Amino acid sequence: MNANPLKWFSHLRTRYILHRHPIPHDVWHSLMSHALFKGLSAVEKAHLRELSTLFLYHKNFIATQEFRLSQEMLVSIAAQACLPILNLGLNCYDGWRDIIIYPVAFKVNRNITDSIGLVSHEEQFLGGEAWSKGPVILSWEMIYSNLRTPHSGHNVVIHEFAHKLDMLNGTTNGMPPLHPKMVREDWTQAFSDAFEHLQQQIERGHRPDINAYAATSPAEFFAVCSEYFFTAPENLNHHFPKVYEQLTEYYRQDPKTRKV
Ligand SMILES: [Zn+2]
Repeated sequence: MNANPLKWFSHLRTRYILHRHPIPHDVWHSLMSHALFKGLSAVEKAHLRELSTLFLYHKNFIATQEFRLSQEMLVSIAAQACLPILNLGLNCYDGWRDIIIYPVAFKVNRNITDSIGLVSHEEQFLGGEAWSKGPVILSWEMIYSNLRTPHSGHNVVIHEFAHKLDMLNGTTNGMPPLHPKMVREDWTQAFSDAFEHLQQQIERGHRPDINAYAATSPAEFFAVCSEYFFTAPENLNHHFPKVYEQLTEYYRQDPKTRKV
């Protein structure tokens, strides 16, 4: 008799979902040929496939504007969302269900408050957005472009799901809940030094080491560094080695060691 019936039942249910809702081999095989996944080991790919299957089962995809989502699209979003949590577990994405997909960039209206308290109204077009305890919103056009014509440091799915991880401790401040053996001061020092350095480069009109959008806030810095970590690890490690080191501890992966 199993000592923990709840755990046993949960394991059985997971096996059942994996068995009943498999990702077709051709869809998975073609997705794995993209640069983002190429360097993963066979074991990592198999684990990513299981996580993606469970992700697709538990999340609710909503297409807007009569946009039709194919199985290939859903699997590609799931696999990109699950890459950061490969060694963290799917429960990092608990507490919300909806993923809203627009065909192209979507318009949002925002009230912006400046440093002296003046509020202005602004219209913006976004490729992605993540709400705390709410949906993740993505533009398929951007997802497709990131996958087909990859540019260092650009992956909208990883960016928005990094925000979701950041939000797990209730605040979106660029520091997700750290693992027990990680040192909070080391994280803070590495990230604040790098953030300051990037801001200075921009203020002085120098070419920024990474995408200048990272300098807009500590939360965006973490999300953009996560994009680099998975799409251009050598680049991030070269410019911000201490940030890279903290991210290897946090994500429990070292993408720069992967051979593409
Ligand atoms: Zn962001």
